[in-house]
Amino acid sequence: MLRRNRNVKVVATLGPASDKYEMIKALFEAGADVFRLNMSHGSHAEIAERHALIRDLEVEMSRPICILADLQGPKLRCGSFANGSEMLEEGAAFRFDLDETPGDGTRVQLPHREIFEALEVGSTLLVNDGKIRLKVTDCSKTHADMVVEVGGRISNNKGVNVPDVVLPLAALSEKDLEDLEFVCQLGVDWLGLSFVQRAADVEQARALAKGRAAVLSKIEKPAAVKAFEEILAASDGIMVARGDLGVELPVQAVPPIQKRLVRACRRVGKPVIVATQMMESMISSPVPTRAEVSDVAQAIYEGADAVMLSAESAAGDYPIEAVTTMNNVAEEVEKDAIYRQVIEASRTPSRTSVSDAITSAAREVAETTDVKAICCFTHSGTTAQLASREKPRVPIIALTPKPDTARRLTLTWGLHCVVTQEVDRFKMAVVNAARVAREYGFGSDDDKIIVTAGIPFNTAGSTNILRVAPLQEKLIFEGGPE
Ligand code: ATP
Ligand code: MG
Ligand code: MG
Repeated sequence: MLRRNRNVKVVATLGPASDKYEMIKALFEAGADVFRLNMSHGSHAEIAERHALIRDLEVEMSRPICILADLQGPKLRCGSFANGSEMLEEGAAFRFDLDETPGDGTRVQLPHREIFEALEVGSTLLVNDGKIRLKVTDCSKTHADMVVEVGGRISNNKGVNVPDVVLPLAALSEKDLEDLEFVCQLGVDWLGLSFVQRAADVEQARALAKGRAAVLSKIEKPAAVKAFEEILAASDGIMVARGDLGVELPVQAVPPIQKRLVRACRRVGKPVIVATQMMESMISSPVPTRAEVSDVAQAIYEGADAVMLSAESAAGDYPIEAVTTMNNVAEEVEKDAIYRQVIEASRTPSRTSVSDAITSAAREVAETTDVKAICCFTHSGTTAQLASREKPRVPIIALTPKPDTARRLTLTWGLHCVVTQEVDRFKMAVVNAARVAREYGFGSDDDKIIVTAGIPFNTAGSTNILRVAPLQEKLIFEGGPE
């Protein structure tokens, strides 16, 4: 029975390097908890195929697996190239236009009419998270001629930023609206919203998702950083999308923003993913740089819920090694005594509901006595998120009769999610929790667990009971509340 030996979760983006069942399975076994489908790349047929492979894997592994569908949002992207990619040399001329013909070394399509209206001679365009820099030398309503200031490889559908020009773009494009409905019908657990600028953007997506998927806002615009508190309140989760953030703002602004966003998410108990370039060199190298290892470690010390791989797992040469490295870094950091100190010192006091009190009591009991896990019963997932918010010293087992809830919660720090049958008596809940804890190796007959639940069962209520229970089944029946 598979369990992880860490709290932080690993998100792996799927792409051409990881579109076969065996590879997706290998990534899962290496440590990927959540798979990201990037709607910017790949047709609906390809997305549907990957989705089906993940759901097949879930059955084979008997573990809930989380799927995050990342909507492209109003991002500018170039078209495709006859050869898939081209090298742009410094000083060379290059053209963006509206012509759908596949691109070559001299030009490529940029299918956004608005951008040509807004460009001026002297405007700067950045390609691929800012790696390539182009300056406009001549432009019209249908093309822009540019000189390459910083060269590099440009390939199909690479992102284009125009930091010094304000573009009038809607939060959800026509493509996003179609993609959203498509993935909601397929059945994904999280919807990633790119280039969110205000809470209303999130509310629009939520209304369209109609509860079929939770909503994760990607923070990658200066406007989103400014309006962060409202965006957080409107969202179910957050991604610190450092790629575009580091293009739209000076790169040195990104680390303090990352820290602030992670803290804010921890305060309210909503999951936060740190993303982009975490293991970038592993796209073409089997070992990471020391700086990359340190970056991943840093996000874990901050208490992020998840760390993410983009091109490393989607299009790199070493997807499995990249996941393995993240997993190993996480296990090592979380063994460090300083990790516990930092996590505890950065915890904010719990709020005032009964559920908050019970979950924080569970954490305190786990600190002062020898229990092997905190088991919490949850329907909507809220109770489990509160338990995670406490960042206890022992693993949290989230038990739910709802597969959707289990999948969604898989993104959250420390949660080992298990689908169980519906229970209607507290004693049966304890028996179930103890079975799961033994089955996954969290403890054995002589050990104890904490069980929290809301009584009476099956009424929408909140957590109001806590029991320290033995793992041995016959002892469970000898004492404790019914
Ligand atoms: P975003 O801004 O949404 O992060 P991105 O273009 O940076 O978009 P990532 O998913 O972060 O995309 O990185 C994956 C990289 O892998 C892409 O830049 C792209 O070059 C490559 N790739 C090619 N095909 C795919 C695919 N089907 N899915 C995901 N990535 C792909
Ligand atoms: Mg992006
Ligand atoms: Mg990216």
